[in-house]
Amino acid sequence: MMEDNRIIRGREAQRMIVETAWEMAEAVRATLGPKGMDMMLVDRMGNQVLTNDGASIIKALETRDPIAKIIAEVAKSQEQNAFDGTTTCIILLGELLRRALELIERGAHPNAIIKGFRIGLEQALQAAFENAIKKEPYEAGKEAASTAITGKSAEAFLDVLADICARAAIIARPSEIKLLTVPGNPKDSHLVEGLVVLKAPMTQGMPEVSEGNILLLESELGPPQAQMTLNDPDKIAQVVDMQTKYMQEILSRIKENNVKTLFCQRGVDSRAAQWLRKEGILAFKNIKRSDMMRLAVATKGHIISDPADINGEDLGQGIATVHESVNPYVSVQGEEVEAASIIIPAPTEQSAEEFQRALEDAVGVAHLCVKEPLVVHGAGTIQAQMYSAIKNGKPASNAKVEAARLAFAEALLVIPQTLAESAGMDVMDVTVRLSNEPTLGVDVHEMKLVPMSVFEPLGVVRSALTSAVENGVSLLRTHSVIMAKPIQEIFADAEK
Ligand code: ADP
Ligand code: MG
Repeated sequence: MMEDNRIIRGREAQRMIVETAWEMAEAVRATLGPKGMDMMLVDRMGNQVLTNDGASIIKALETRDPIAKIIAEVAKSQEQNAFDGTTTCIILLGELLRRALELIERGAHPNAIIKGFRIGLEQALQAAFENAIKKEPYEAGKEAASTAITGKSAEAFLDVLADICARAAIIARPSEIKLLTVPGNPKDSHLVEGLVVLKAPMTQGMPEVSEGNILLLESELGPPQAQMTLNDPDKIAQVVDMQTKYMQEILSRIKENNVKTLFCQRGVDSRAAQWLRKEGILAFKNIKRSDMMRLAVATKGHIISDPADINGEDLGQGIATVHESVNPYVSVQGEEVEAASIIIPAPTEQSAEEFQRALEDAVGVAHLCVKEPLVVHGAGTIQAQMYSAIKNGKPASNAKVEAARLAFAEALLVIPQTLAESAGMDVMDVTVRLSNEPTLGVDVHEMKLVPMSVFEPLGVVRSALTSAVENGVSLLRTHSVIMAKPIQEIFADAEK
């Protein structure tokens, strides 16, 4: 990697950029696909985690090296836009740059290469669109979610989870789908319409379903704490009297405002809890701030900081339903708000995190499919199809541009090649057969090339390829790299 305070220009800069991109692509190659291998990430504190999630590995490689940073940004934006295809995108980027450098060393100008890549991209995207299959949104979502989950630990529960993701994606946008992990067995995962808070009512005997006004209270619900010495009986009686009056006033305000459900961010006094129960109000205490905020959005209510301020306008609206189980929770369905929650029981904290990550991706791709229910054949097929379309496509008139266009086509095959490699298949053999029969895919378990029913959203393939090309192009245009010291060090020098 680079030293500080150096200006690197021209061919040397290009070589360095390509080397970094290639190193990062190499680092994630082994994780691609269902036979992808786990890698162990160890941080400076000695914490370690096993993962085969390309995006996490790329994030871990992000160092002070500016090029590594750019590549990590590419991975992040792929994840944000398409929820999946991160590893694919980085592998393609590395391969495109490697081939570009080869052409540069053989005398091609970067502009000619950029032109050839852009023509190739257009022809590839056209081919992807023509080869896409239209499905029912639920079916497309389920297929895509299945592919996203395959190869991760969540795969053992593929059917349950893919169905949940597809249904959730139909109900709500990914930002409104909350994943909650609880202790237990993943096979009991389920989808709840509305928002879920992992809390049981504050006492027994409260209603199980309650519909109407919802009060969101930030402060404690209990008498104000008096500071007194406990040796003056009169004073104590006086204080208790005052506290009782105060509570009566607050509670009658709650009743006047016809509150049916109460969520309190802090504690609730036990007498107040009993009173709420008697009034048939469903109430919860010690609610996390983040849940309070979500409740406010979903029920269109405001969080009130002082119980004395309760008024009708601040109340939310909705139906709260209590679910008794090992991990009790309350679901809240607000008016007009389309929210969904997925409850994922997981045996350990680490598996909970893995499941959460896997499902985030899966919900995301299911969402893409619900929006645009077009899927393409995965397992390397779509890349073979794009390759073949470019090979048979209109050639460019300039020889160097044409060489780049063909190099682009060949670069696409890195995906089936990597899948084949991870399965221990003969890469050369796979390349030759796939280029002749681009409807086949890599069956990594049987180690054969066969038509595969693995589907990915067209959107993921389109985004991974476009972003690999666009970022590759801007890196190819980069003519010099200046390594600056960290700003703090520059200041430290000035003070000396
Ligand atoms: P990414 O971060 O790019 O999504 P993955 O590790 O999820 O990386 O691998 C995705 C690749 O694995 C895609 O090319 C996809 O088509 C392929 N793939 C997924 N499931 C299978 C399968 N059952 N058999 C072969 N290839 C598969
Ligand atoms: Mg994936």
